Amino acid sequence: MANEFPQVVTIAGTDSGGGAGVMADLKTLQARHVFGQAVIVAVTAQNTLGVQDFMALPTKLIDEQFASLAADLKPRACKTGMLADAEHVHAVVENLKKVDFGPLIVDPVMIAKGGAALLAADAIQTVREELVPLATLVTPNLPEAVALTDRPIESTADMIEAAKLIQQLGAKNVMIKGGHGDNPELASDFVLLADGSHFWLSAPRIATKRTHGTGDTLSACIAAELAKGADLSIAIETGKAFVAAAIKATIQVGHGHGPLNHWV
Ligand code: PLP
Repeated sequence: MANEFPQVVTIAGTDSGGGAGVMADLKTLQARHVFGQAVIVAVTAQNTLGVQDFMALPTKLIDEQFASLAADLKPRACKTGMLADAEHVHAVVENLKKVDFGPLIVDPVMIAKGGAALLAADAIQTVREELVPLATLVTPNLPEAVALTDRPIESTADMIEAAKLIQQLGAKNVMIKGGHGDNPELASDFVLLADGSHFWLSAPRIATKRTHGTGDTLSACIAAELAKGADLSIAIETGKAFVAAAIKATIQVGHGHGPLNHWV
């Protein structure tokens, strides 16, 4: 059914506060005019102040959600977000190997801005060895890139080296997000493509606490553009521009790290 409306599935955790995780993904997919679907891996009790608690679902239910989608729906791209622990990373990997949900964007979510660990420390190895090799694109922020490569990143040269190392783990393309960097003026991301070509994407840094869900929004937007047929580099540029616009167009929600404005 080649003519079906473009669909994207997010495989991730929920955010009861609506700003990150599956909620940010579905809002992004809606804004980008693709039909969003979700495999829920974990449920968080969360607001803009932080993550109060979470629980991962039984892996049987993850298998069943994948099976339900595969039996009827045709996602043209997919993304992963919060995967909780090694058992769940492995379950998601085994399911991804059985289905064809199009290009896979791996957002290797580890620690929320409030400090909560959304991935158990011992699961980093499972992400590195099992999930990253399936990825069309991996989108770590700086701390996640450090964790995946086990090396410090203190310079742009280190960022480039980290992207190469992540590609050597098996990811086709890598985007290292510089949002956690210390340049007060620019947020610069490094993109290394499958053919070895690379480019930097820079946006003026916006001084704001309202950045909850930026990583989710970026990866969901890239998946949406891929599902609509865009080239990967164009999808990445569109994702960066969408996140920058969504940070800039603030909305007043909550008392902590506020959410993005997805109506942009
Ligand atoms: N909660 C969930 C379920 C997430 O998937 C993410 C995504 O990274 C976060 C929270 C973290 O959001 P942030 O670090 O942008 O505040």
